[in-house]
Parts: sequence; structure tokens; C-alpha cells
Amino acid sequence: MTNLTASLLELVNFTFNPYALLSYLAFVTNSVVIYLIISKGSKDTINRWFIFTVLALLPWSLSETLSRLSVTTTAAGFWETVGIIGWVFVSPLFLSFTLAYIGKDNVLSKFSTLALLFLPAVFFLFLGWTTDLVNVNTPSSYHRVFWGWESPTAPLFWLAIAWLDFLFVISIGLLARYWLRLKNKKRRTQTALIIFGVLVPVVGGSITNGLLPILHIQIFQAAVMLTTVMSITITYAMIRYKLFVINPATAVINIVDTMHEILIVFNLDGIIEFVNPAVKDVLGYEKEDLVGSHLNRLFKGNWQLFSEKYLKTLYEGQTITGAELDLIAADGTKKPVNFSASVLKDSNGVIYGVVGVATDISKIRALFTDITAERNKLNTTIESIADGVLAIDFEGNVITINPAALKMLGFSESDIVGKNIDNLVKASEDDKSIWFKDFIPHRKLESDEIVYQKDNLKIITDYNKQLYVNLTASAIREGEDVGLGAIITLNDVSKEKELEEMKLDFVSMAAHELRTPLTAIRGYLSVLQEEVKKSLPKEQRSFLDKAFISSSQLAALVENLLSVSRIERGAMKIEAVAQNWKSLLQELVSNYVPLSKEKGINLSLNCSADLPPVLVDKFRISEVVSNLLGNALNYTKAGGSVEISSQYDPKAGKVATTLTDTGQGIPASALPHLFTKFFRVSGVLEQGSKGTGLGLYISKAIVNMHGGDIWVDSTLGKGSRFSFTIPVATRPALDKETPNNYSKPKRTFNRKKVKLAVEVSG
Ligand code: ADP
Repeated sequence: MTNLTASLLELVNFTFNPYALLSYLAFVTNSVVIYLIISKGSKDTINRWFIFTVLALLPWSLSETLSRLSVTTTAAGFWETVGIIGWVFVSPLFLSFTLAYIGKDNVLSKFSTLALLFLPAVFFLFLGWTTDLVNVNTPSSYHRVFWGWESPTAPLFWLAIAWLDFLFVISIGLLARYWLRLKNKKRRTQTALIIFGVLVPVVGGSITNGLLPILHIQIFQAAVMLTTVMSITITYAMIRYKLFVINPATAVINIVDTMHEILIVFNLDGIIEFVNPAVKDVLGYEKEDLVGSHLNRLFKGNWQLFSEKYLKTLYEGQTITGAELDLIAADGTKKPVNFSASVLKDSNGVIYGVVGVATDISKIRALFTDITAERNKLNTTIESIADGVLAIDFEGNVITINPAALKMLGFSESDIVGKNIDNLVKASEDDKSIWFKDFIPHRKLESDEIVYQKDNLKIITDYNKQLYVNLTASAIREGEDVGLGAIITLNDVSKEKELEEMKLDFVSMAAHELRTPLTAIRGYLSVLQEEVKKSLPKEQRSFLDKAFISSSQLAALVENLLSVSRIERGAMKIEAVAQNWKSLLQELVSNYVPLSKEKGINLSLNCSADLPPVLVDKFRISEVVSNLLGNALNYTKAGGSVEISSQYDPKAGKVATTLTDTGQGIPASALPHLFTKFFRVSGVLEQGSKGTGLGLYISKAIVNMHGGDIWVDSTLGKGSRFSFTIPVATRPALDKETPNNYSKPKRTFNRKKVKLAVEVSG
């Protein structure tokens, strides 16, 4: 232990020697050089090899510094031996740098070349560290000289020097040849500087550190210093003339090696001379496996076709671009490729080979097949659906249209495709024109969306064909990118509409036909009632009464049916005049007093004092009030109450009237359907009440025609509250009003012009 510590201490036992500073200066300079080059870019192969070369100078110069500072021979010998790791590698590294510099660094990717370059160096290092053959390790043989220490030359030292100088000479030879061929002036100067830089240590260093010691001539060993001169010169050359650009030859080789396309070169005999590594990824062959074999290996059965169709063209001097071929992969499967090729000619214009590029298109082809299948599926669907479908571009021109739409509109495909739809097809709703171009969204859509939807639009085509359709226009998010403005689907509802009209015609006709005999029946019955009142027995009289009641109910049904058919056709007219609402209500309520008394229901009317005159069709609005009042009394049991109240809402310019009963109420689930045609709350029929389910439907239509709303609140078992609003008569209307009879001015509402707002609150 003590011995080891003692010997370690001896190794760092230093004394000052000014010559050591020179070696140290070399160490520092080379460190700076490394820093400089790294900062210029250590990714470039040339730079990297140069950095390695200069790195080797670091242990060499540092060990030389320490050896010169050493006090004892042991220490001097130790540091000299350490330094071998530096100098033994300088020239193989420099040769690698040279190869990279002249664009031949692809040879360095071969293990054999690397081994040839570096294994001898490793061998000399091994000898140097373990034997006395390359370097004398016996301390006693070292003696002091003015610059440091001197040792006898080892027996195989000359071999190491010869090997290293040999590599340097090769480098210089390569650089000189490169220099001779160069045209670029900058590059020439740069190369010349590098040659000069390397000559300095080769000539100077070999003499001072090699030749002279071998010849037993004592001289200051300057190799480290001179090699440092080399590194400075080369660094200057590189920075000054911007060597830090990628060598084009290197770039091309890199591209060829890394590209995904197969690059293939074959000679006139069809023998493959070169393929790039992509052949492995695309076809699964090893590069080495293909080189030397015949090209037909890649074609098998298709070879004849390829040679006749393409090789001939090539040998005639033409190029092939974008030919779609199937190549045979290593596993025997076919790979679709896109193939382009041209011939290689020598300086005399004689063709000596072909270079081709094959791009793998199997993914694209698979994708294409998928897309085609999808498109076919979609086409078949669109073709076969009964709805009309058409697509328009951003100008409103028809891009595509399905057979159903053609049939519907009465066009042939050539009549309409490519033409502006608005010129050929006129759409309208209640006589208001609707333009197809308005369905095209003018903003970028976030998602696919329905832009327009309307039922029962009237369509008139160029050929005067008229039909009714439910129309939906949708747009897709990618519309703008693919020029698809909107997709329009048309559902032909002309038949339904016709049927509906026929139904209405029938109902109205039947109702009309029933009305006359019914009136007669009721008339005779009432006469009969009066005439035979006393003469008939009580029971027979009650038959007569029942017959009269039933005929009245039938008459009411007939009237309701007539009203419905008028509403549906838009034939119901409202002749609105200013009316005193309070007195009208009083009059209507008084009609129901006998019934309420009979049923034992408390009927009351409450109108606020400020009720202004209202603008209503007296006959029609009376129908509404009577209907609501009739229902309230009908669905309320004895002992209950029915209250009518009315108040003015100045803000809305309307009078609201509410009928509140304490009857059976309406289940919440029925409320949304209450104002629809023929709707009756289920279970009511079983309870024996007679009704048609038309009263509320008609009432709503009439209120809406007046520009008002009707709605209901109800709690099952507690009662219902029906409310509706009607407009007040405006000032000019009032000025013209006659004091007793508000018959002027008249305003005619047409159902169609009134917004059909349904407001049903639960
Ligand atoms: P109906 O001729 O059957 O009375 P309506 O359209 O007037 O036809 O009314 C539709 C249904 O609404 C009725 O059948 C009844 O079930 C329910 N209804 C209407 N008014 C009331 C009310 N005041 N109380 C309870 N149910 C009512």
C-alpha cells in the first residue's frame, strides 16, 4: 500500500521545465480547435472525423507535457507510455477525415476498411503498453536532456512510424488527386491548405520524433507542436472556406440509402448491378441477394411483357415515367409499384445500363380500392333510394342527381347536370320564392349540418311539372375543399297532399250533404215537440227529447267538420271588427246559465274595468268562447265552479281571457296534444261524455287567425285553466266605430298569413 502510494506520488512529482509549456500550449490549442469545430456542427461526417483526429492530439500533448515536467525516470517513462494512445491514432483518423472530405466516406461504413485502418494502431498501442518493442518502458534507460527526457529507440518503433507515415502519405495522395480534379477555386485553396497542414507534421514530426531518434541523433522532439500546427491550419482552412457544407457526393449516397423508393441499376444483359436498401423494406430482398441476379427475378411471368413494353422503349432512348407494374416480392407475392426509368449512357452516347426508381403504391392502391368500394356503395344507395337526392356546387350548379330526383322533376340527366338549379326548378312556400342557392353555407362549417328543412314546398319545374316536396338541404364540413355546396333531398309528398285534399273534399261534401236533411229533421222534431207536448205519454215524450238532443249533437259535429275542412284548405275567413268584449262575454255566458244551473255548477264572469274594445270576428270568437265554456261545464261535476275572467295587457296590446274550472283536469301527458285534430283524452269516452275532439283544434285555429295565442294549465283532479289572447282595436279603428254596432272597420285575416304559434304550457 505504502509502496503504491509512494509510486503514485512519484508519478506526479514534477519540476518546472519551460519546454513542457510548448507541449501544454499544443494541448490548449487543440482543445480550442475542438470547441471551434463542434460549435460549427458536429453532425457533419467530415467535421466529426476531424474532431476525432484532434481529440487524439490531446492525450499525446498532455502526456508529453507531464513527461517533460517529471522529476524521475519512472515518471517520465510512465507518461511517455501513456501518450502512445494519442499519436498511434492520429494518422488513421486523419485518413478517415480525408476520405470523408473527398466524399469517399462510404468506404468507412464497411467494417473491413475500419479494421484495416484502426486494428494496426490498436496493435501498436498494445505492444507499446505491454512490451518494450515500440516504446522503452525501462526507467533506467531514460536520461535527462534539456527539453525533458530521452530514451533509447525501441526495436519496432520504426515499424509503427512507417505505418503511420504510410497512412499520412495515402491521405496526402488522395488529397492531391482531389485537388487536381477540383474546379471550384475556394475548394482548391482549402484543399491546398489541408495538404500543407498535414505535410508539416509528416515531414517535420517524422524527422524529429522518428527518423532522427532511429538514427540515434538527439534533437528536440517537435511532432506534437507540428501536429498542432496541422490542426490549426486545417481548422483555418475549414472555417475560412466554409467546409462545413455537406459534400454533394455524400448527400446523394445518403439520399439513396435512406429513400423509401427502390433505386435499381441494371446492365444491358438485365443483370442487376445496384439496388438501394429500400428493396428490403418494399420487397423483402437483401441488397446483396439481388445484385448480380437477373432482373426477371422481379417479374416472373410478367417479364415478357415488361421487356417488350418497357425495355424496348428504354433502349430506344426514351424514358419511362409512372408505369404501374407488379413486382414479385421475396415471399412470392405481387407488389404494385410506380416505375420510372431512364438509360445510362457513356461519354460517347452508348447505352450501358438503366437506372430505375420504383415507388411502392400498395398502400395507395389499397386505399383506392377502399374508396372505390365506398363510393360504389354510396352510389348504389343513392341510386336506389326513393327520395330524390342531388348535390349542387357553390354556384348552385347541379353536380350529381339520382334517378328518383330525375323522375320526380321530370328531367333527364343531361337536362340538369352542370346547370344552375334555380333556373330549372322553382320552389316556393305560400307563394314566396325559395332559392336553392340560399342553401349553400357561406361560412366554414365546423361539422356536417342540415342548413334548411321545410315541408310541403311547392316545386314547379321548367316543364311546368308541379309537385309538393319535403325538402332538406345539408352541407358537409369539407364542402369548401371539394366544391360541394349542398346536398338536397326531396321527398315527394304530392300524393299525400292530393289524398289529404280528397279527404277534405269528401268530408266537406259529406258535411254539406248532411246539413240540409239534419236541419229539416231538427226543425220537424222541434215542431213535433211543441205540438205533441201534452198529448204524448211522458216516456214517449222523452224519446222525442232524446232524438232532438242527438240530432243537435249531430248538427254540431257536422258544423265542426265543415269548420275543420275550411281551416285546412285555408278557406276560413275572419271578418274582424271592433267589439265590446265585456258585453260579448256577458251575452255568451248568459247562454250557459241554464245549463250551469241544471248541472249545479257555479258560473261567474269577472272583467277588469279597463277592457278596451277588441278586434274580432264576432261569430268565430263566439265559437271559441262557447267551446271552452261548454268543455268547462261538461268536464266539471256538480258543486264545482267555472269562472271567466278577462283583463287587458297594454304592453302586448292584447286582451287575455281565462276560463278556470274545478273539473276533472287533464293529465300532463295529454297536454301537448290537446289542440290537435280529433284528440280526446283517453278514458273520457268510457265515462260517457260525448265529443268529437275538434273543438279545441278549431278554437286554436280561430284564435291564431286573430293573431292571438291559446294555451292551457291543468292539474289532474283539480281543474283546468284555458287562456287565450285577442288583439285590441287600434285607435284609427275606434274613430270610425259606430256607438252601438262596432261593425266597422273590417279587417280580413287569412289563416295563411297568421303565424301558427302553439303555446301549450303544462
Ligand atoms: P271535445 O268535443 O271532445 O270536447 P275538444 O277539442 O273541445 O273536444 O276537447 C278535447 C279534449 O280535451 C276533450 O275530449 C277533453 O278530454 C279535454 N278537455 C277539454 N276541455 C277540458 C276541460 N275544461 N277539463 C277537462 N278536460 C278537457
